[in-house]
Amino acid sequence: MNDPVSFDPERFREEGRAVVDWIADYWASLASRPISPDVSPGDVRSQLPSRPPESPEPLADVLRDLDRVIVPGLLHWQHPAFFGYFPASASGPSILGELLSAGLGVQGMLWATSPACTELETHVLDWLRDLLGLPERFASSGAGGGVIQDSASSGVLVALVAARERATGLVTNREGLAQNNRPLVAYASADAHSSVEKAAGIIGIGRDWLRKIPADAAGRMDAAALATAMTADTDAGRRPFFVAATVGTTASGAIDPVAEIAAIAARHSAWLHVDAAWAGAAAICPEFRGPLVAGAESADSWGFNPHKWLLVNFDCHALWVADRATLASALSMKPDYLRNQATESGAVIDYCDWQVPLGRRFRALKLWMTLRMLGAEALRDHIRRHVAWAGEFAEQVAANPRFQLLVPPNLSLVCLALRAGDTATQALLDRVNATGHAFLTHARIGSRLAIRLAVGGATTTRDDVMATWRSIADLAN
Ligand code: PLP
Repeated sequence: MNDPVSFDPERFREEGRAVVDWIADYWASLASRPISPDVSPGDVRSQLPSRPPESPEPLADVLRDLDRVIVPGLLHWQHPAFFGYFPASASGPSILGELLSAGLGVQGMLWATSPACTELETHVLDWLRDLLGLPERFASSGAGGGVIQDSASSGVLVALVAARERATGLVTNREGLAQNNRPLVAYASADAHSSVEKAAGIIGIGRDWLRKIPADAAGRMDAAALATAMTADTDAGRRPFFVAATVGTTASGAIDPVAEIAAIAARHSAWLHVDAAWAGAAAICPEFRGPLVAGAESADSWGFNPHKWLLVNFDCHALWVADRATLASALSMKPDYLRNQATESGAVIDYCDWQVPLGRRFRALKLWMTLRMLGAEALRDHIRRHVAWAGEFAEQVAANPRFQLLVPPNLSLVCLALRAGDTATQALLDRVNATGHAFLTHARIGSRLAIRLAVGGATTTRDDVMATWRSIADLAN
């Protein structure tokens, strides 16, 4: 028998086809599957052998267990009626890009470790900047540029590290830190994503030094309260150094007044990061762009997740910085074994200097393939359809006297509740999800519990959205 470890291209060809067929069948079967798993904790593990096999098992056996043990334990994120959290959309081209990335198996930490891996990433992020209408300051032709991180959480983490570096010189200049021993303070709205607070904890300023600025009833940061808080901290001898503005909050899709926030941050020389994780994708449509990129020309960093609404499978967070040198100075480590001529020449980007880990996957391939094989116009249509269907859904909610919209819909996100109150709303959400024909999640908007409908799936149709409304309305009776 052949050594099972040695790579056999013919065997891979055959098994690869079987796996691609399996994925195609899975996608074709999704609409007829119940969306949520019906399992209790430990059910999946109890069906797995306690020890790994000593000898090779055929692919067919593994695929059989995938069907038997694993798939029943999944929440089907690609189901057409998945409206929970923010959908993590995927597409054929992006999945093929992912496969190619694994097949090539390159590490792109340095330009020298695979020049095409770095250059394609820089180039595709310049394309994407252009498509979103983001300012020139983020273009790689100037002092800025884009990078792919795994997630928006990593995006805000590296932005915080760069901001701290600009404020203190902590990494590159120990004396600088000694001269700057005032407490560092960061700011975000109370409705900002929890990843901002987590990152504040990770970088060591302490979660308590992230000030949560109140949001208004629609979920937008109160800029006047931000100004007051930053001035009070400066007057008390503290050092405001970072502000995170959110474009499309997780709960309700609210858009912070970024231009106003930018002016306030600038008065304190604080770094401004814009977290547009979900809503940013809609900026590819000129008619939605204005409020989404407003103030971006004054931001130091701006990021969104193509893996949420732009048909690139998880993980893919696009982050742009206006000053790549500051980010790189905070994160660059070049031990002797990584030194090389290209780096020394200063003519190349080494993306390991823009992220936390050293190694990095060739994620640009899936973004490149999605943009090339779908084209920008299809991506715009994809977003437009979802916004239109969410609007129709919201009209039905508004017309039903038992329901209320807790905030006006933002893009493709609708937040609704039963007028009867939180208990009735939660019970309704549970009943809708128990049907297995739709999946939605909740959020708190002010003091109220909301059912969130986030339209964003690759295979979602208008019928799925409307059928979900009918199910919600029927089950409310
Ligand atoms: N920011 C916002 C506004 C989000 O809605 C989310 C997730 O939904 C995140 C950040 C975190 O995204 P990730 O899972 O990519 O870290």
